[in-house]
Amino acid sequence: MSDEIQSVRGFHDIFGEELVKFRRITLTVREILRLHNFEEIILPVVEYAELFQRSIGEITDIVQKEMFTFQDKKGRWLALRPEGTAGAVRAYIQHRMYADRPYRKLFYEGPMFRYERPQAGRYRQFHQIGAEIFGVGDPEADFEIIEIVYKILKKLNIDVVIEINSLGCLKCRPAYKEDLVKFLNKVEENLCNVCKERKDKNPLRVLDCKVETCREIFKSSPKMLDYLCEECKGHFEKLQNLLNSSEIPYRVNTSLVRGLDYYSRTVFEAVSDDFNTTIIAGGRYDYLVEQLGGSPTPATGFAVGVERTALLLSDVAEYVERYIVIPFGNVKEYAIRVANILRRKGHPVEFSYRKGGLRKQLEYADKMGFRYAVIIGEDEMHEGKVTLKDMREGVQVTKNIEEL
Ligand code: ATP
Ligand code: MG
Repeated sequence: MSDEIQSVRGFHDIFGEELVKFRRITLTVREILRLHNFEEIILPVVEYAELFQRSIGEITDIVQKEMFTFQDKKGRWLALRPEGTAGAVRAYIQHRMYADRPYRKLFYEGPMFRYERPQAGRYRQFHQIGAEIFGVGDPEADFEIIEIVYKILKKLNIDVVIEINSLGCLKCRPAYKEDLVKFLNKVEENLCNVCKERKDKNPLRVLDCKVETCREIFKSSPKMLDYLCEECKGHFEKLQNLLNSSEIPYRVNTSLVRGLDYYSRTVFEAVSDDFNTTIIAGGRYDYLVEQLGGSPTPATGFAVGVERTALLLSDVAEYVERYIVIPFGNVKEYAIRVANILRRKGHPVEFSYRKGGLRKQLEYADKMGFRYAVIIGEDEMHEGKVTLKDMREGVQVTKNIEEL
């Protein structure tokens, strides 16, 4: 056993109960996105590293510390994608997806990679399912995105709060940045080292710091909401009116900035206060398409962290009534036919490969949680019957196969 090979640190297998939760989440999100008429795109896992440097931003945790980058045989720098939006934007531009329509609604699902310290709900390979609306600058699009997030939370019965904020636009943000830097310079000596270093390069990012003492200090920092221009203010108010009239609960968090550079105006997160963690996040990114070489295109979107969401999901053990077909003697072909009759009716059926007598077989069926054992011996076969045992109720009946 000494040379048993383990999975790589931070890369996990998903099976059993976690997988049931995982599928429950992704199927729920897919169904809601289907009802909102989003179309799926399968994006590559590998992109040029530059795509993420130019979109997520050089002075961010993801690009500075967390990217899995490597060189291909020709020496080009590639990266395992750390998130989905940059790739979606790249594809939108590359395939001229704007050509035949005024806007486009896409969604993606798959693994993402970040070189982080693994812990509960934090892996090096994790999964996101996310959606983007390209080409709509109106607050109605931000509303649709947040409305979808709310529907997901409702449907999964997860008790978290949606926090929203506005980061303004290129017109109003510079004045805010200036005042923020002044503030940060004043409190500099009490900030953590990362904040000290970031404050000149990317002051907004400083507000994303998770260190408790820094967070305390930021409570008295200038707030972007006080600096919004008329358009940004109107956008944020309209969004809140839409949320209010749909009775979607939310709270405004003035220091919410998100960990990626590309956001403008609306940002939001679904936050669990109990677990002090974010499970879904998103926002508007009106400059990103242009920044990556497309024509100016407003856009907005969200991403669900699937593993993180699974942690908050209460038990979902769906009770499925499964059958096990147990053949005795020379009855295999008949037993396979019986199994398929049941499958055609939509029941999950296992054909027992276990060897041994009836008692052993029924013990196994019980242990594996089968509801019904279908016992087939030669007598049953000659009469076109089966013996059906209800494992839960402990009753046994003989049935013609047509009655199954
Ligand atoms: P955090 O602050 O927890 O590091 P983030 O701001 O880096 O999160 P985003 O980039 O916004 O996260 O990604 C959206 C969601 O993806 C997160 O809310 C979370 O649910 C999930 N996520 C992000 N990083 C990881 C990870 N390393 N492992 C598992 N899930 C993750
Ligand atoms: Mg992170």
